Amino acid sequence: MRRERSNLTMKAIFSQPLLFLFKRLLNPAHKILHRFMCFFSLLLLLQSAAACAQWFSDERAIMGTLVRVELWQQDAKKANTAIESVMTEMERINQLMSPLIASSELAKINSQAAQGAVVISPELFELITKAQDVAELSTGAFDISFASIGQYYDYRAGKQPEQASIDQLLDRINYQQIVLNKKHSSIRFLRQGMAIDLGGIAKGHAVDRGIALLARQGISNALVSAGGDTRLLGDKRGRPWLVAIKDPRHDDKQAVLIPLADVAISTSGDYERFFIDGDKRVHHIIQPSSGRSAAGVQSVSIIGPDSTTTDALSTAVFVLGVEKGLNLINSLAGIDAIIIDAKRKMHYSNDLRPPRR
Ligand code: ADP
Ligand code: MG
Repeated sequence: MRRERSNLTMKAIFSQPLLFLFKRLLNPAHKILHRFMCFFSLLLLLQSAAACAQWFSDERAIMGTLVRVELWQQDAKKANTAIESVMTEMERINQLMSPLIASSELAKINSQAAQGAVVISPELFELITKAQDVAELSTGAFDISFASIGQYYDYRAGKQPEQASIDQLLDRINYQQIVLNKKHSSIRFLRQGMAIDLGGIAKGHAVDRGIALLARQGISNALVSAGGDTRLLGDKRGRPWLVAIKDPRHDDKQAVLIPLADVAISTSGDYERFFIDGDKRVHHIIQPSSGRSAAGVQSVSIIGPDSTTTDALSTAVFVLGVEKGLNLINSLAGIDAIIIDAKRKMHYSNDLRPPRR
């Protein structure tokens, strides 16, 4: 865990006692008293310094990405407990929702839901319900059953399914073939060969849970991020947080730096997991209608009230492309978008556009 003491706070704490100390030292008539007072003042100084609030931060590799927590706290022990609670929560969600962990609830769904209804935890049921809402909203651009084909891509190994396999499995991608039963908290697939994956929404959910945990512990200024999903609690104490949108083609450059407070921002990019096949970039965001990587844009950032929503919408708008994507975002209150298209041109939703003269 790192501590970053604010300059402002240092000034506020040290100026008063130091002034007092210097005044006393200038008067030779109070020699013994000086020494006592100096010692006493120093003690006070050390004490107040220990009690002063500061920024604490930590980063850890969880859910196949980098999780970062940054918060403002007075007490180092409390800060440490708060950061640990977020990291533990992220790991818990990973164990629950990773398709790669054989004991996860998600793996159980994928192996059993085509045979009959599978009862799942309320948390997973709620998140899948939210994913289905975004699927409806985006007319199937966001579809967790993309995994019916998506599971056969291996970006690290540079592998993609043959066209014949895609043709055979394409009709398994259809969120309407996922049946949720609220009363029994269960899920069922209508077709054999279907699979789901929450990679487009689970990190947002984890970030929201992290922020809720920090707020419950009395923290009012914090940042929690997992890969491209960031949520901000409060501001950066008197000024906004500055969140960068990466340049999709230069890893070390930023396309834009946005001042934000008390909101969530998620970015989906074609540079996160990909390989190059001839002149094609094969990446991790799948167009449900083709089973291939979605083309047309390089990155989509969504700003909104919570990370679960912004995470799912960034993936949805990536699939929809500039025009349909902006139409969707402009129809939603309190949600904004910044899109970088295939020619690196930036597009903004209506509320982010500068007013016309
Ligand atoms: P990341 O932060 O992992 O880059 P994104 O929010 O950009 O995630 O979403 C990409 C992930 O979403 C993919 O890795 C995959 O797990 C999932 N995904 C890919 N295509 C779709 C889709 N059409 N609908 C829903 N989820 C998708
Ligand atoms: Mg997403």
